[in-house]
Amino acid sequence: MQNTPILPPSMLGILGGGQLGRMFTVAAKNMGYKVTVLDPDPNAPAAEFADRHLCAAFDDEAALNELAQCAAVTTEFENVNADAMRFLARRTTVSPSGDCVAIAQNRIQEKAWIRKAGLQTAPYQAVCKAEDITEASAEFLPGILKTATLGYDGKGQIRVKTLEELQTAFAAHGGVDCVLEKMVDLRGEISVIVCRLNSDNVQTFDPAENIHENGILAYSIVPARLPQDIQQQARQMARRLADELDYVGVLAVEMFVVGDTHELVVNEIAPRPHNSGHHTIDACAASQFQQQVRIMCHLPPADTRLLSACCMANILGDVWQEDGGEPDWLPLQSDTASFLHLYGKKAARKGRKMGHFVTLAHDADAAFAKAADLHGKL
Ligand code: ADP
Ligand code: MG
Repeated sequence: MQNTPILPPSMLGILGGGQLGRMFTVAAKNMGYKVTVLDPDPNAPAAEFADRHLCAAFDDEAALNELAQCAAVTTEFENVNADAMRFLARRTTVSPSGDCVAIAQNRIQEKAWIRKAGLQTAPYQAVCKAEDITEASAEFLPGILKTATLGYDGKGQIRVKTLEELQTAFAAHGGVDCVLEKMVDLRGEISVIVCRLNSDNVQTFDPAENIHENGILAYSIVPARLPQDIQQQARQMARRLADELDYVGVLAVEMFVVGDTHELVVNEIAPRPHNSGHHTIDACAASQFQQQVRIMCHLPPADTRLLSACCMANILGDVWQEDGGEPDWLPLQSDTASFLHLYGKKAARKGRKMGHFVTLAHDADAAFAKAADLHGKL
């Protein structure tokens, strides 16, 4: 990989044109770059802002050839074909590497790798065939049986209490590779976003405290309401993971806060900007998307400083009316310390992430209270 900085108005490429791709595109365009997006959806949220939309499948060779003309290419999601990443990497600069993306695609590899880096995960066992379920599996009960690949927003997960339920759940998943994870005594969930160019240029954002509803992220509160030493430890752990991977790009590390002692265990990683980092657009010196642009262009990550306590609230399709009528935006838009972001998605389905807003306040409690109040008025 050649390390000369890539400067505006170079063309940057991204695999995927969802909301993450859209916010990446806006950041890159603001800095004066041009953007090509590859996404098979003609209504992809990023397409509205991109200079060029390659409307084709992610493994379409002609489209990948076009994307490879970009000065550098990145991705907005981890379930991208590793062969497509390799194809691109032979022709242009790709970050993060296909190998790093592949690790995040499979929970079995991901967990093994986290432990190899010397960090804790919840106790787990890989379940790839019916015979893998034995008396010894009881050690991981009550637990959650998660499919090894393609799970998100709580999808592909079944909670099990007994060995019988475990067998039924494995069959219900269709016998695909799974991870049986012991339920931990969850006191909270946090995430740390690391921005890494190389070992000399690494920045971490303040940990975000994440609140889920029905398996989907609902609120991210920053600063997290946890002791400073735990927050420092979380940042160091995330950094250690990025260093071990020799990661180049933006990496999100989700962690569980366990038990009275607030022990941190790593849940999963995402090789890209993350929903829990959307507040960085409105509340930090540089956003996670500016960092993604900078790093893919071989520029060191910029200042991650939190400028105000804040809370990000997701806006799901659930708040649209039955007939597709818009929510009442007036209370939110009238608030002078809250910032609305809509992704331009056409159909508002239940559970679909349509947008988010960020509320700034004097402390985390106040920001969260304000966000919950405004969300209730949508
Ligand atoms: P997803 O890919 O859907 O985000 P996660 O593995 O992060 O899957 O699980 C979704 C949520 O389920 C977590 O954010 C957490 O609230 C809960 N959860 C997952 N694993 C455990 C566990 N081992 N113990 C307790 N809660 C868990
Ligand atoms: Mg998760």
